[in-house]
Amino acid sequence: MSITVVGSIAYDAVKTPFGERERMLGGAATYFSLAASLFDTVRPVGPVGGDFADTELEVLRTRGTPTDDVQIIPAGKTFFWAGEYGWDLNSRETLDTQLGVFSEFEPQLSEAARDCDVLFLANIQPTLQLSVLDQCHGPRWTALDSMNYWIDSARDDLINVIERVDSLVLNDSEIRQLTGKASLAAAAREILAMGPSSVIAKLGEYGAVLVSRDGFFALPAYPLERVVDPTGAGDTFAGGVAGFIASQPEAKIDHGLLSTAVAYGTAVASYDVEEFGTDRVARLTFDEVQARVADLHRMTQFTHRSVQETFA
Ligand code: AMP
Repeated sequence: MSITVVGSIAYDAVKTPFGERERMLGGAATYFSLAASLFDTVRPVGPVGGDFADTELEVLRTRGTPTDDVQIIPAGKTFFWAGEYGWDLNSRETLDTQLGVFSEFEPQLSEAARDCDVLFLANIQPTLQLSVLDQCHGPRWTALDSMNYWIDSARDDLINVIERVDSLVLNDSEIRQLTGKASLAAAAREILAMGPSSVIAKLGEYGAVLVSRDGFFALPAYPLERVVDPTGAGDTFAGGVAGFIASQPEAKIDHGLLSTAVAYGTAVASYDVEEFGTDRVARLTFDEVQARVADLHRMTQFTHRSVQETFA
């Protein structure tokens, strides 16, 4: 089984209350791949410029990730994003977005990438997401992420892709922005009516919510005492979700399976936040992931007891 992901492969400049980095490896497809590679083979699709260092390509190759679908355009510049977080790490300000090589990129997937079992359309221009979706030979599960930037600038294209995927994985604020609905439950219902059979809302430090046609599931984020840089947590989460689904090739992808996938995504994403950039997830082990999934399971159980009616 394998996973294909298209999305940004980037250099990021990030400032948080705990420090800053002027130019570090980032990008939605990068974070996603590092997480998904814990579970299965993942093929990132996307271009980088001549400024992209070999050492960064090596990080992408962590756990044997094949990079044949990463196209190097020597005369171009790698996607660049700059953002800043305040004390509330759930909200950030985008200071700069430079598409660089992505502005003219026309993806041509390798046969292996087209044959994927799971396809994730990570955050990038919706037209590119659509082109990749069209090239794949009917993956078992497809999902899409996006962000305010694309909801504002390419809304119609984005809706075209949403209509064709199994799941939408989006921040709660972006779900509200997309639908114009204040209630997350109502917004999710509206998205389910567009075509996807599930919606996964990312709530940052408050966790994630899954809404499918069969139910509702919510999981808090892992209670971390040390938070440094949340950049990429959403993509790392999605990599854990998609990776878990790819690791269960015989299972029916129903509400129960997606709920467990959300737990794996939550566990992997929690590690991302502990250090700047990709460092922590690049050296993460599967045992560490399992340990936090088990903790999450323990933390979210409660006993349902009925209360005697004393004041009749
Ligand atoms: P996340 O924190 O999970 O939302 O993802 C952050 C990553 O998304 C960063 O590493 C950026 O390089 C990348 N990114 C930021 N803005 C965009 C955009 N408009 N399109 C694609 N990727 C982006």
